[in-house]
Amino acid sequence: MDAPVPPSAAPADPSAHRYDVAVIGGGVVGHGIAWEIRRSGRSVALIDDAPGSGASWAAAGMLAPVSELHYQEEALLALMLEAARLWPGFAAGLDGGTGAGQEGAGGTGYLTTPTLAVGADAADRRALADLRAVQQACGLAVEPLTVREARAREPLLSPGISCALDIPADHQVDPRRLLARIGALLRADGRFEAVPRRAAGLLWDGGRVAGAGLEGGGEIRADETVVANGLGAAELQGLPGGLALPLRPVYGDILRLRVPPRLRPLLRSTVRGLVRGVPVYIVPREDGTVVIGATQREDAPTQSGAVSAGGVYQLLRDAQQLLPAVAELELLEATARARPGTPDNAPLLGRVGRGGTGQDIEGLIIATGFFRHGVLLTPVAAAVCRELLDGPPDPRWAAFRPDRFSARRDSAQDFSPKDRTTA
Ligand SMILES: Cc1cc2nc3c(=O)[nH]c(=O)nc-3n(C[C@H](O)[C@H](O)[C@H](O)COP(=O)(O)OP(=O)(O)OC[C@H]3O[C@@H](n4cnc5c(N)ncnc54)[C@H](O)[C@@H]3O)c2cc1C
Repeated sequence: MDAPVPPSAAPADPSAHRYDVAVIGGGVVGHGIAWEIRRSGRSVALIDDAPGSGASWAAAGMLAPVSELHYQEEALLALMLEAARLWPGFAAGLDGGTGAGQEGAGGTGYLTTPTLAVGADAADRRALADLRAVQQACGLAVEPLTVREARAREPLLSPGISCALDIPADHQVDPRRLLARIGALLRADGRFEAVPRRAAGLLWDGGRVAGAGLEGGGEIRADETVVANGLGAAELQGLPGGLALPLRPVYGDILRLRVPPRLRPLLRSTVRGLVRGVPVYIVPREDGTVVIGATQREDAPTQSGAVSAGGVYQLLRDAQQLLPAVAELELLEATARARPGTPDNAPLLGRVGRGGTGQDIEGLIIATGFFRHGVLLTPVAAAVCRELLDGPPDPRWAAFRPDRFSARRDSAQDFSPKDRTTA
């Protein structure tokens, strides 16, 4: 099994340079942002002592704005649809051509194969029908199939499923390949620096953010600093005083299994099921493996990466009910990670206001809180950051400002750094 993306060798002294942009955090979001910013011609330092080891290491990689629609999350739907619109070009840019979406295209593992939503019993059928009404009201394409039609497409589906819906617009990418691909392209670039260190906090200079201080000493100076370190964002020193980043860990267990040659292809589509009201999904990869996920729990396991036995049991039981051949697969890996959740399930993305002035704090962009959708949202997070560097922000994304939970946003008092971080 692949290991998380290794940090490249540290420069002799990254502190000796000044970068156009420092990105703190090298998950999919930080990598995507670093990539887009390099494409804009700016120099970038990406700071992370364990890149790719956070939530991105566990993610299934579903690019699923339609299946992921939740009641009363219309603003988030607009952001997800914009991300889905950007994905083909984003993947083509990384895969070095226009072949993205084809089997064997290599690179990121981006595939435009469709999604089937299936229900196990009558109550699941009603729940999926209710959700379809909401999806259709939002203009999204979700078409019912008979069980016979669904099994003609996916012969290994159980004949006992209660319903099936075709969702052609929900696709997938392989997050580990995506990280490896972006990392390799960046490391080959002379104006990119991977800094395999942990950021301690933000540096300030004359009322603006001027880079990041590093744990154990040293600093990375930059004109702009992007905070993209997932759940770790709220722990950074030197965040603007009064800025609340209300992130919470939402743990998920996920399994990787190998399909024996006689059962390939196990599936052509991603299958998203509802089994007695509990969601489960099965994502087929090009390499003959499948990903089965994912539980959602907010308890505090003894170790942050601890896999729940009950979670593994539930995933295998429910996946097998929809696809009996699951019992014949080889279990390769069980992983757990925490999604960076927010109170409204939407990201914290954009600049931070200086309370009462109508101005934003210079040199600082926040990009965290991507919860269940960070892989899907990576291209749009990258595009938003680039727009913020280039000029005025797109008003469509003002709903995701990172200071929306901060009581002092509209007060006359300025945000000021909580703890100034120097070297
Ligand atoms: C089981 C599971 C399944 C999922 N499936 C999907 C899916 O199908 N589709 C989808 O779109 N999303 C999915 N997600 C959600 C997705 O994984 C996250 O939204 C996404 O990975 C968040 O990316 P990130 O880069 O913000 O954070 P992370 O991947 O958590 O990365 C944060 C990085 O910051 C680094 N870091 C932390 N603190 C510091 C510091 N002080 N200094 C430097 N670096 C630091 C860490 O080492 C880490 O590399 C899933 C999540 C889970 C857990």
